[in-house]
Amino acid sequence: MAEFSPPNLLSHIVNEDTVHLTGIDFETPRVLLARGKDFKADIVIGADGLKSVCREALLGWKDPPRLTGDLAYRVTVSGSEMRKHANLQDLVESPAINFWMGPDSHVVGYLLKGGDLYNIVLACPDNLPELDPRLKELPYLASGAAMAVEDGYCLGRLLSYISSRSQLPDILTIYEALRKARTTRVVKQSSHYQQIFHIHDGPRQEERDRQLAEFNEEPYEGYPNKWRDPVFREWLWGYDVNVEVEKAWAKYEKGQFPLIVGGFRSRL
Ligand SMILES: Cc1cc2nc3c(=O)[nH]c(=O)nc-3n(C[C@H](O)[C@H](O)[C@H](O)COP(=O)(O)OP(=O)(O)OC[C@H]3O[C@@H](n4cnc5c(N)ncnc54)[C@H](O)[C@@H]3O)c2cc1C
Repeated sequence: MAEFSPPNLLSHIVNEDTVHLTGIDFETPRVLLARGKDFKADIVIGADGLKSVCREALLGWKDPPRLTGDLAYRVTVSGSEMRKHANLQDLVESPAINFWMGPDSHVVGYLLKGGDLYNIVLACPDNLPELDPRLKELPYLASGAAMAVEDGYCLGRLLSYISSRSQLPDILTIYEALRKARTTRVVKQSSHYQQIFHIHDGPRQEERDRQLAEFNEEPYEGYPNKWRDPVFREWLWGYDVNVEVEKAWAKYEKGQFPLIVGGFRSRL
């Protein structure tokens, strides 16, 4: 955002296809581009994914994604084709998330496009040569994009409230407080879920399977299938980012939000 007079703001949305970002000058601040004129900005939002130039610019060192040790294959199959096979009909006719768990590997399948497409993901140990594509973060909760959407909404909503540049540092403090704990928990739970899925055959695996079968109708907090864990699913899917932002903003306007620099005073 190079300049704005509330409630308008000028935003430059930089996309790799059109503009390749090479770094950030934090003093000006300014976004450095591979081609064309650099952008000056009051705030730079570095949402450039896993291989992030913005993250490396902020840290000041190379920070490539770390490999997880897992590899995923993804296949989509036409729902109508599957209906032609008696032993596959169930998968398309009763919508559910189906898991097959095994030592170090699992398969998950579910319907997309209102039942027209069956999505299958096969996760297994990563034994590919160094240069091939592989997983850089564990996808076992299928929530990365959901978190990115919540992040974007949260930041956009906070920016829509401000009336002066002096509030920008406070906006970022509120944003971090709202988003960091939630997204960190998703990442950690995803890793935990991997351990549950990939147990080797033996007493732990048998006990997991007993709990899954015995309490399928009455899942409890910590139930091995996170999608049916009543406490976790409420936390993951019951979250209303709009409500959380409004609560945080109300607190901020009362001058009660921790760690802010007090930009709200400019409105008093
Ligand atoms: C196979 C697969 C299945 C998935 N399934 C799910 C799912 O079911 N549910 C779910 O919630 N999530 C899922 N995810 C995860 C989800 O896709 C990611 O977590 C999410 O896309 C991350 O969003 P992001 O905006 O942070 O980054 P990205 O989506 O990676 O966006 C980054 C953007 O920045 C741009 N960019 C990068 N570098 C530069 C540069 N130097 N200059 C300019 N632009 C740049 C890129 O072009 C891109 O547009 C899946 C991921 C994969 C790979």
